Amino acid sequence: MDLGIKGKWALVCGASKGLGLGCAQALVREGVHVLIVARGAQALEAAAAQLIAEDVRDSGASVHCVAADITTAEGRAAVFAARKDFDIVVTNAGGPPPGDFRSWERDAWIKALDANMLTPIELIKATVDGMAARGFGRIINITSSAVKAPIDVLGLSNGARTGLTGFVAGVSRSKLAAQGVTINNLLPGAFDTDRLKTNMKGAAEKSGQPLEAVMDARRKTIPAQRFGTPAEFGAICAFLCSTHAGYMTGQNVLADGGAYSGTF
Ligand code: NAD
Repeated sequence: MDLGIKGKWALVCGASKGLGLGCAQALVREGVHVLIVARGAQALEAAAAQLIAEDVRDSGASVHCVAADITTAEGRAAVFAARKDFDIVVTNAGGPPPGDFRSWERDAWIKALDANMLTPIELIKATVDGMAARGFGRIINITSSAVKAPIDVLGLSNGARTGLTGFVAGVSRSKLAAQGVTINNLLPGAFDTDRLKTNMKGAAEKSGQPLEAVMDARRKTIPAQRFGTPAEFGAICAFLCSTHAGYMTGQNVLADGGAYSGTF
């Protein structure tokens, strides 16, 4: 299927690895010019080189990178100094750490809100009016299945991401909907990325079990009996960015191998 987005420009945040890189790969394969962002220049440049070597092929896409912390005003200014107008924006940053809410002081909450709620809102604010003026725009926020099925130790994530979800539910149904701009959230369940491995390592150390046993037990809780891949996640993202998905807005799209057991 031709996704109809060849030649568009995408900003993909948190894209040196994991789900963000999966989204960048899928977009580049469709001929979308991507500007990828992550904090570490070395890993980011390696990701850009990988995209150019493996994914650009004859798609006509180009790959650009800005090493910046997207959760800071300076980081976002560096990105928009490199390019102002984007047709597609994939918002993404690291998730907050797990823990007990009794130990989280105001600073921990502000950090989580900055990263997982206010940064996506700032990126939306900076880009949607330009998209509307050009008659096409796609915002995809990478959130979490924890928005639908909260996990107790991920209280910082549950709180911050649910705040973003409420904001998106409103803004996606504003005048922007009639101007060709869609805003959707993509909710990962368990995907095979460094973040998942770090979380599993923590669980293994806490329980004293071998890492592979903990990972296996986790896989068995998922109806698909496996973790998702960044490529699968990227393909869903690219479809939501496509011209075919123009009638989908304000949605929370779950990709979790069937782990969430509700009817809706
Ligand atoms: P990851 O750790 O594999 O990759 C995160 C990427 O974001 C890296 O490129 C990192 O450099 C970049 N990044 C982190 N903080 C940044 C910042 N402040 N500015 C710019 N770049 C930054 O993580 P992932 O598994 O791809 O997860 C992506 C998001 O999805 C996270 O918010 C995570 O909490 C969420 N999530 C992941 C899973 C999963 O199973 N992998 C499940 C639910 C939610």
